Amino acid sequence: MTSSGSSSSHEIHGAPTCNCEKRCVIFISKTAKNPNRRFFGCTYFNEKNTPHCNYFMWEDEFIASQARMVQLKETAIINHYERDMEAMKIQMNRDLEDKINQLEKDILLAKDILERDIEAVRFQVNESRVTRMNWKQYVGMLGLLIVAFVIFFCIWKYTKLSK
Ligand SMILES: [Zn+2]
Repeated sequence: MTSSGSSSSHEIHGAPTCNCEKRCVIFISKTAKNPNRRFFGCTYFNEKNTPHCNYFMWEDEFIASQARMVQLKETAIINHYERDMEAMKIQMNRDLEDKINQLEKDILLAKDILERDIEAVRFQVNESRVTRMNWKQYVGMLGLLIVAFVIFFCIWKYTKLSK
């Protein structure tokens, strides 16, 4: 690192922490290679007789890495949402399929019941037809009885007259 010539600066919000677990401060490089380039360093760096670590990070590189991190997090969040959406879509399709299957079963059941009802009505109609035929038979028998009665009445009248 060629940043020996530097001047200490203020603390920056969101600055990285050095190996001493302290928030880094900004320094300004005074080297020929990186003139006026800002970098993060240990807060004890310029304090004489205070032990310090050799943490070093260019500010622009740190910001770029932070931006990359944010982008990665965003991508991760988007991926997560997309996965959730995909899972939801699959679940919805499954639910829909279940509902359609249930509806089909219900329709088949209703069809069965309806067919049974139609069969029952058809049976009742046949029954009533049989009953009507019986009624016809009754009427016929009644007619026969009347005829027989008339014949008997005539015979009775005739025998009464002939006496
Ligand atoms: Zn340190």
